[in-house]
Amino acid sequence: MNLILMGLPGAGKGTQAEKIIDKYGFPHISTGDMFRAAMAKGTAMGLKAKSFIDQGALVPDEITNGIVKERLAEKDTEVGFLLDGFPRTIEQAEALDGILAELGKKIDAVIDINVKEDVLVDRLAGRFICKTCGATYHKLFNPPKVEGTCDRCGGHEFFQREDDKPETVKNRLAINVKNSQPILAYYKAKDLLHEVDGDRDIQDVFVDVEKIIEA
Ligand SMILES: [Zn+2]
Repeated sequence: MNLILMGLPGAGKGTQAEKIIDKYGFPHISTGDMFRAAMAKGTAMGLKAKSFIDQGALVPDEITNGIVKERLAEKDTEVGFLLDGFPRTIEQAEALDGILAELGKKIDAVIDINVKEDVLVDRLAGRFICKTCGATYHKLFNPPKVEGTCDRCGGHEFFQREDDKPETVKNRLAINVKNSQPILAYYKAKDLLHEVDGDRDIQDVFVDVEKIIEA
């Protein structure tokens, strides 16, 4: 089973990835890990990537694709794989099809953990900090025991980091939506896309993911 896992920040993609790996034993192939491993092993593509990164330059697509190909050619992918964070563009999606064809493989399913943007904003923009003692809280996941009062110091003044503010989070999400939509459409057209409602209990989401993998 060769899978691509997609989902906006805060949708719970990382949690579902862990559960898939635990249960099915697929190698988890994420872009960051792939680059780090290729550079650490000194593979042909890893060395090329390193020369760009060392200069602070963007790694060209052909090298990224080369690293993906090296990784997908490794033996542990014979049982399947879980691709996470790649492809990010249509060009990469097309390149991936070419790479897989050369390796005699294909994508079996693309799973998108789908959560509405306003829910994601609540999840991602909920963090606030006590001005007096620096204790960190979250509106949904870790609120103070008494609303408006710091558990640790009794303070009443709080602030949000720039990154945690709703406007910042909304902008970040909008960019992610814009980038991911064409890729979702690409796999939908190939009849590979499975949308899973991610605004539920982690285990309920995973039950749907299991059904897709075992279908
Ligand atoms: Zn405090």
